[in-house]
Amino acid sequence: MIVMSAGPTTVSREKLNYMIKNSTNTDIDKNYITIHRETEALISKLVNTNAKSFVMLGEAILGLEAACSSLIEEGDRVLVIHNGFFGYGFKYFIEMCGGIPVMLEMDYTKGLNKDILDGYLKKDSDFKFATLVHCETPSGIMNPIDEICPLLQDYGVLSIVDAVSSIGGEFIDFDKFKIDVLIGGSQKCLSVPSGLTLITISETAESIVLNRKTPIKSYYCNFKNHLEKSGSREFPYTMNDSLIYGLNISLKNILDTDYVSIHKEFGERVRNAFIKSGLKLYPKSHFSNTVTTVLLPDNITDVEIVDRMVQKGVFISPGVGHLEGKTIRIGHMGDNLDENMIIETLKALDEVFLEKNIVLECSLTESFMKYNVFF
Ligand SMILES: *Cc1c(COP(=O)(O)O)cnc(C)c1O
Repeated sequence: MIVMSAGPTTVSREKLNYMIKNSTNTDIDKNYITIHRETEALISKLVNTNAKSFVMLGEAILGLEAACSSLIEEGDRVLVIHNGFFGYGFKYFIEMCGGIPVMLEMDYTKGLNKDILDGYLKKDSDFKFATLVHCETPSGIMNPIDEICPLLQDYGVLSIVDAVSSIGGEFIDFDKFKIDVLIGGSQKCLSVPSGLTLITISETAESIVLNRKTPIKSYYCNFKNHLEKSGSREFPYTMNDSLIYGLNISLKNILDTDYVSIHKEFGERVRNAFIKSGLKLYPKSHFSNTVTTVLLPDNITDVEIVDRMVQKGVFISPGVGHLEGKTIRIGHMGDNLDENMIIETLKALDEVFLEKNIVLECSLTESFMKYNVFF
């Protein structure tokens, strides 16, 4: 099978072998502890900061919930800035820990707008935190967190950013963007199997976690347990050796390449192929370089296409949330960025559209192969 979904992404055979080979006892093996702490430092390096990073054992949703349960206390007002599925979803985690979500909805077809936020905050900025998403994976939109987070800081509001499908694919400068909590996951651009949450945290946010009025109401969704053991030989619980070795090698590989340009090039080429074919992309601007969301004609559903693609040996993603039924998504991130794999995917899609009597103005495969971003 070719995995071109919007996550989990392809994990190269080489990485899988490395993960299995380095299986060990994470509580006793000193070498493991060194690798684990090195991996945390590499996460910080990837987001261009000296701020602390740590890894939690659990799929990235754990990070979203744990950020809320670790930072928010009963009655805290939290601004939920949303233009998509994941942005909206923060509401539920905030409510679970007794916070009061205040929803700021923006245009779902574009990136978050700094001026609208500024206008809003001028009237009401009584928030301890704001939540937002870097890449809205369901809609294929990359939000300008480099504009939004500094503005939030100007108003004294801390930012909690879901960067699950952008970390390792898109440029992130944790310090310059003035981010307070950045949440990443292993199974998107980092191309490690699902099961790890990556957290990077500012000193301000750390001190809030450590100086709460009330204890955090969870052991597992708890940043404090990790922050207190930071740099030591201990972890709050037994870690997963294979996943950490996979993450370690993945981060080293990524940091050795110009990963931002590579994602940009493939992103542009895939988008161009769909545009030339006459199909419409869902976003009107702020296109993500890690995932492309394509609107389907009315007479066909996402599941029909995805199921037929599976029969042809290729995984792509269907629509999610308000785009369910109406869109398909190609994940061009991490180990999915293989020219041949993308060509195989587009070839299969060309065939499926033909079978379903959807006439394209131009073959997806040909447009992808012809397009050169350098001209
Ligand atoms: C993948 C992803 C998550 C994790 O959620 P899943 O249920 O594994 O999809 C969280 N946020 C974003 C933006 C994601 O892309």
